[in-house]
Amino acid sequence: MILPKFVTLVEVGPRDGLQNEPETISTTDKLKFIEILSESGLKEIEVTSFVRPDQIPQLSDAALLANQLPSSHSVLYSALVPNLKGLERARSSGIKKIAVFTAASETFNQKNIHASIQESLDRFKELIPEAQKIGMEIRGYISTGFVCPFEGDVPKEKVLEVAEKLLEMGIGQISIGDTIGAASPKDVEETIGFLLAKISAGKIALHFHDTYGTALANVYAALQLGITTFDSSAGGLGGCPFAPGAAGNIGTEDLIYFFHRMGIKTGVDLNKIFEASSFISNLLKRPLSSRQWQRLRSQQKGKNSGNGK
Ligand code: MG
Repeated sequence: MILPKFVTLVEVGPRDGLQNEPETISTTDKLKFIEILSESGLKEIEVTSFVRPDQIPQLSDAALLANQLPSSHSVLYSALVPNLKGLERARSSGIKKIAVFTAASETFNQKNIHASIQESLDRFKELIPEAQKIGMEIRGYISTGFVCPFEGDVPKEKVLEVAEKLLEMGIGQISIGDTIGAASPKDVEETIGFLLAKISAGKIALHFHDTYGTALANVYAALQLGITTFDSSAGGLGGCPFAPGAAGNIGTEDLIYFFHRMGIKTGVDLNKIFEASSFISNLLKRPLSSRQWQRLRSQQKGKNSGNGK
């Protein structure tokens, strides 16, 4: 079997991770978190969301944050944008890449963004040309790409239909989410294999959650299909508001360990990500779910408690 030699990690911790935390992190601390992440070798970090500030209070500082991002030539900072108003806020804050979001399941989309899938696609039809005019890159998220918390299994035909519509609008890459972390490698093979008959692997990113402990197995299944872009969150921050008790996104540390051990390059420094996650863990006053984070943390504690003996 021939596996890719290099993969790209898209870090979503500052947005997808922190938006689900009950604790609000200050803008200054978020910037510190992003600064440490930016030193890790990551090429893309999703930093915030320009939804209406009252919708996600944790991210209501989007413009303030985006205006103060580190001036890095090697990292692309992206943000979610729901509509033209959000696009204007993103543009005037210096954001160069946006992400729009919809779902492959009607009920989830209604509950998540109070719009049908078609209504959300109609909004993108006005939004995307405007973003393209100002030279922005655009990513499209498809939530519930495998299983919906309300409708159960999501037909692969529906995922393909939404994916093709997004790509036809000129979106560069779609990120397909296992929103409640319920998918297995079989689901990945079936759905992503089906999409690959029509869409090239380079246009597909995968966004796994680890609720049922299947995230890394799903990454491995996707690798075998030729997928080379994966979303993850430092420390495994995040969750899903519709899946109570759901574990967060797959941890960036866990992905890095897994890829490096398999001889696949990420260009990202595991210890730097651990440093960034630890900074947030201290602010949240709780341990994080990433296995590698926990391993490094106990190693660190062991060293500290060994002092003076
Ligand atoms: Mg997520």
